[in-house]
Amino acid sequence: MDLKQYVTIVEDWPKPGIRFKDISTIMDNGTVYKYATDQIVEFAKEVGAEIIVGPEARGFIIGCPVAYALEIGFAPVRKEGKLPREVIREEYGLEYGKDVLTMHKDAIRPGQKVLIVDDLLATGGTVEASAKMVERLGGEVVGCAFLIELTYLDGRDKISQFPIKTLVSY
Ligand code: 5GP
Repeated sequence: MDLKQYVTIVEDWPKPGIRFKDISTIMDNGTVYKYATDQIVEFAKEVGAEIIVGPEARGFIIGCPVAYALEIGFAPVRKEGKLPREVIREEYGLEYGKDVLTMHKDAIRPGQKVLIVDDLLATGGTVEASAKMVERLGGEVVGCAFLIELTYLDGRDKISQFPIKTLVSY
């Protein structure tokens, strides 16, 4: 299946000059959504993932069905102030500015094999901050998986130490 034809390019959103890759036209088609999920499930099996970590909000959309399919857990990465219990935090640079990400302190067990999943790899700031938190919690990042990679932003250079799976490239 050519997944790329189901990605909708939105010109000048959220800012002028940005060509936003809208994945809602993958998700609203059950066959396509399942196909994309299945690719990442296969990768998760290959790398031996024991838990999925996903950044809000679209990392949940991709990561949760993968966790469900494998009967493993899912741990959310969230913006500051969203998680109710004790957290660790990491600052990160986003394609559109700077922000802070957090995870619950007990989200990952020491030694647990973690696959980080998000919809899109741009500059790599989000996934790098997520990987740092996983490692600070004692987890082992066994891979990073994305529906889409913006190759011209070289985000994979920030996570080159990990196996990387992407399904669609621009
Ligand atoms: P990065 O931290 O790699 O620069 O940016 C990746 C994050 O920004 C991801 O969490 C992703 O959801 C979001 N993002 C940035 N650009 C786009 C885009 O064009 N489409 C979508 N769907 N998400 C984007």
